[in-house]
Amino acid sequence: MKTNQEILVQNGVSPSIQRLKIFSYLKATKSHPTAYTIFNDLKDEIPSLSKTTVYNVLKLLIAKRLVQEVRIEGNELRYDAEVREHGHFKCDVCGEVSDVFLNQPLNLLLNHSYEVKEIQFNITGVCKSCLTKK
Ligand SMILES: [Zn+2]
Ligand SMILES: [Zn+2]
Repeated sequence: MKTNQEILVQNGVSPSIQRLKIFSYLKATKSHPTAYTIFNDLKDEIPSLSKTTVYNVLKLLIAKRLVQEVRIEGNELRYDAEVREHGHFKCDVCGEVSDVFLNQPLNLLLNHSYEVKEIQFNITGVCKSCLTKK
């Protein structure tokens, strides 16, 4: 297993504390946080952190394809260190977002006749744990 620091270096990102912390935070969570959540969760640990830094680091990680932007509702952007193609299921009750993987890449459904830039697919409903609580 490569360390997060090695992954950054291999992708040409010099691993400053802030970059490493933000990347490691995203690698460790499945919660698809917003930039604001990332900032809030890390600001005590990295007192020098600003929201601008969070945005800049995210931009860099996205450009290096180490993180992807996820749009589930409206214009709200969330961030995901799972970069394989996948969709998201958002629970209407608890708000949890989980990953949904397909057996084959979605762009195959387009018969290669389109140039695909970005794929986002979202499902809403009620998650398993909320269903069993009823
Ligand atoms: Zn739920
Ligand atoms: Zn995801």
